[in-house]
Amino acid sequence: MALERTLSIIKPDAVAKNVIGEIESRFEKAGLRIVAMKMVQLSQEKAEGFYAEHKERPFFKDLVDFMTSGPVVVQVLEGENAIKANRDLMGATNPKEAEAGTIRADFADSIDANAVHGSDSAASAEREVSYFFAAEEICAR
Ligand code: ADP
Ligand code: MG
Repeated sequence: MALERTLSIIKPDAVAKNVIGEIESRFEKAGLRIVAMKMVQLSQEKAEGFYAEHKERPFFKDLVDFMTSGPVVVQVLEGENAIKANRDLMGATNPKEAEAGTIRADFADSIDANAVHGSDSAASAEREVSYFFAAEEICAR
């Protein structure tokens, strides 16, 4: 087992639904610790940079529009195998395919407005955490 950090975002749809606390509670109940956290309104440039890997995809513009449509909560989760643990809690990208009891099954409306983001690998976690947080903003426990 490895202690890892991963980047999590509560997306504008879930913030608008007022379920920030319910989502955080799932992370905590699963043993993940929140070691950095902020609420931000992403600029177009910040959202485009974050999702740069998807810039050739047909849904890129809609994704950036959605991610800038309202505030998001950006956080670093720490725990044993945190990257996969968070992905398991999130469920599949398309909420229609997400397992019952996952965050996306319970709170997401569609494949684009799907409640949460989570880093998908160690390399993306490293990039994504440092995209949003300076080292001194992360509180080791
Ligand atoms: P995940 O967020 O599960 O890692 P991806 O990295 O494949 O999924 O995609 C990033 C985000 O882009 C998704 O969470 C979703 O908001 C959006 N997205 C992905 N695929 C589609 C699609 N086919 N149509 C619309 N939006 C999509
Ligand atoms: Mg992804």
